[in-house]
Amino acid sequence: MSPDIENLMKLQDADKEIRRLQEEIAALPKRVAEIEQKLAGHKAALEAAKTAVKGDEADRRKYETAIQDLKGKITKYRDQSLEVKTNDQYKALMHEIQFAEQDIRTNEDKILDLMVNVEAREQKVKVAEAELKTESAEVEKEKNEARERTAEDQKLLADWAAKREAIRGAIDPDLIRHYERVMKFRGTGIAEVRDQKCLGCQTLLRPQTYNEVRSGKTIECESCQRLLYFDPKREDPANKPVPTAKKRAKAKVVGGRSWFYRPDFDEVGEVFLALANSEMRSSCRVYDAHSGRKIGITRNREGDFATAFAHELGAGIQLRPAPSDKALDDWGDELPSVILDELHADVKSAQPAPTTEPQTAAS
Ligand SMILES: [Zn+2]
Repeated sequence: MSPDIENLMKLQDADKEIRRLQEEIAALPKRVAEIEQKLAGHKAALEAAKTAVKGDEADRRKYETAIQDLKGKITKYRDQSLEVKTNDQYKALMHEIQFAEQDIRTNEDKILDLMVNVEAREQKVKVAEAELKTESAEVEKEKNEARERTAEDQKLLADWAAKREAIRGAIDPDLIRHYERVMKFRGTGIAEVRDQKCLGCQTLLRPQTYNEVRSGKTIECESCQRLLYFDPKREDPANKPVPTAKKRAKAKVVGGRSWFYRPDFDEVGEVFLALANSEMRSSCRVYDAHSGRKIGITRNREGDFATAFAHELGAGIQLRPAPSDKALDDWGDELPSVILDELHADVKSAQPAPTTEPQTAAS
């Protein structure tokens, strides 16, 4: 990975952290306002409950006063009834007494109603008071926490801003401009490449682009413009493609003699193939890639080996030119270990750096 990419990754981490801190700092006062509003709601509920209790007490006093007044009237009517001269006057006073007694009962009923309610109302006040007490303590705690967090965040933010400036200073200004432009409208400026895909936009890369990224070149994604990087540690080892090498090996078989490597030959697995053209015919020898032992006999067919042995060749990777038929025959049923080592070295150099041009067979 190039130092620029490593620094851009650090820059992106710094940018993300700075954004997170800024958002958190902005959110904290809103959180405090929210909890204070909740507290105000509880205060209002308590006030309402207290007012209701006071209202009940006033009503009760009013009814009790009315009852006292009515009782006074009744006493007065009874006194008057002792001094009346006619039966009609007497009847009228008795009537008044009846009305007053009726009124007393009505007031007593109202007081009874209040008595039933009063317990519930007082309970409400108690609950509201308890809730407010708990809530107030919590609010104070949360406000303190919010204040502390804000101070901490602001300190971290200053640290990150300084770190960010230092990282920026180490990166090519052109790359920074590109990174920041993409970051502005996509949220991120760089993207990892894995399994030939840009993980920023999930687009499959062209083999050429993919190989360039793998080789450590800093290039942008053609689809999302993010700067691409490749981390070999994160690639699935079972999925290590060598896309262009395969294609080229097939496309550039033009004749002559050449070694090929195949990791997946029929039931054998890894093999080396020695393929050779001679006049109108071609030959194919297959060797176990581990032991160097020859598998089967030398196969001879009509036509160019690319066509005649297309099945054997498969997606094989082209290696160095193969020696003459005589040399191959002299080795018999087993490749000399020095040759085997050379072929393995060829495979090794062809695989991790697939941009390397495979050797072209000389005719
Ligand atoms: Zn992309």
